[in-house]
Amino acid sequence: MVFINGSVLFTSSMSDHVRNIAILGSTGSIGRSTLDVVAASRERLRIVGLTANSRLDLLCEQASRFRPSWIVAADADHARSFNWSTKPSNSELLLGSEGIRSLVSRPEVDIVVAAIVGSAGLTGTWAALEAGKTVALANKETLVMAGPQVMQLATERGAKILPVDSEHSAVFQAMEAGRRQDVKRIILTASGGPFREHTAAQLAQVSVEEALAHPTWDMGPKITVDSATMMNKALEIIEARWLFDLAPDQIDVVVHPQSIVHSFVEFRDGSVLAQLSPPDMKLPIQYALTYPERWDCPSPKMDLARAMSLDFEPPDLDRFPAIGLGHEVARVGGTAGAVLNAANEAAVAGFLAGQLSFTEIVPACRSVLDNHQFDANPTLERLIELDTWARQEVTRWVCT
Ligand code: NAD
Ligand code: MG
Repeated sequence: MVFINGSVLFTSSMSDHVRNIAILGSTGSIGRSTLDVVAASRERLRIVGLTANSRLDLLCEQASRFRPSWIVAADADHARSFNWSTKPSNSELLLGSEGIRSLVSRPEVDIVVAAIVGSAGLTGTWAALEAGKTVALANKETLVMAGPQVMQLATERGAKILPVDSEHSAVFQAMEAGRRQDVKRIILTASGGPFREHTAAQLAQVSVEEALAHPTWDMGPKITVDSATMMNKALEIIEARWLFDLAPDQIDVVVHPQSIVHSFVEFRDGSVLAQLSPPDMKLPIQYALTYPERWDCPSPKMDLARAMSLDFEPPDLDRFPAIGLGHEVARVGGTAGAVLNAANEAAVAGFLAGQLSFTEIVPACRSVLDNHQFDANPTLERLIELDTWARQEVTRWVCT
């Protein structure tokens, strides 16, 4: 152990210490990438808890490989009808959202990876922060719904939130190069999704299959559709607003189809710093797990010996009106984030079920947002009520 001026600067035991990890949503795209990261560093990263909603066979398979002390089946009804014969006997089974809350508050858990999709991720993330844990946050919807409340809770409980979203991880990394008060603005990069060059008429015709074919990222279905409408960037503007405590006009967006530059930070002297890597979530996931250290990572590496070009262009706000919604909601705050988030989740579900066209998703969100009773300082309970209300409002679009 090295002491300088009475404070611990570095402890060899700290870097040798095994980090105990619980993954909320281990069967999803982020969850599976997190397990790949852990598999590559098993002497220093240990899985102590895994949770899943529907793919309980995969949950058992993961439990057999990583031997967590606890597994949680979030959908208790589904769990009761499932045959658990392949569950390892030393992994205790917990059920429902109570099971998730109980898992994240165990003293054995150091880091909670919040990788459940949608507003369903809020309660587990909230409970982890309440318990003062470090949260590696993939579930951006938590900050979109309840950014100020979540950030305040983290401060009160001495809990850390480390970004997993690749753009926010890039901003977080680039910000380490300067002082916070010297940050002028951040520029989030966006791939532009599969319909970057579509005309308005072509956008009106796109199918579910086309929307699910992302050109650069391999992700779960909800975020893939969000990327196609560019609502994902709207959610990321709001996420960045709360996570980094930036004014909304300090957050810009640029389209970068190659998804190599994951975002930029511009400092007051005009210096712009970026973080680059091939599009693969293992790197931002690992950085959140190892921060402030950097370890060898199983993600693909940049090959700068090969010719490549990096393109940047402004987003088209007429064809992709979601981005404007993102800035607007980041500006007004209050209940707007929870309403936008829930309306979007319901509209995307409607689109995936063939009940809503692609170009109805954003107008449905706009309409629900405009019709809600705005409150500048809502409680968490009020946000959850509005989440339910906004989903019901979207059903009008689905039925008409
Ligand atoms: P996914 O659909 O692949 O996986 C979702 C996970 O959440 C699954 O494990 C599922 O069992 C669980 N889940 C779903 N509904 C649940 C419920 N009601 N209760 C409890 N658990 C539930 O999603 P994903 O692509 O891995 O995305 C997860 C989160 O990470 C999202 O918030 C997304 O925006 C964010 N994110 C994902 C990526 C990516 O590359 N996939 C990148 C950045 C951010
Ligand atoms: Mg992202």
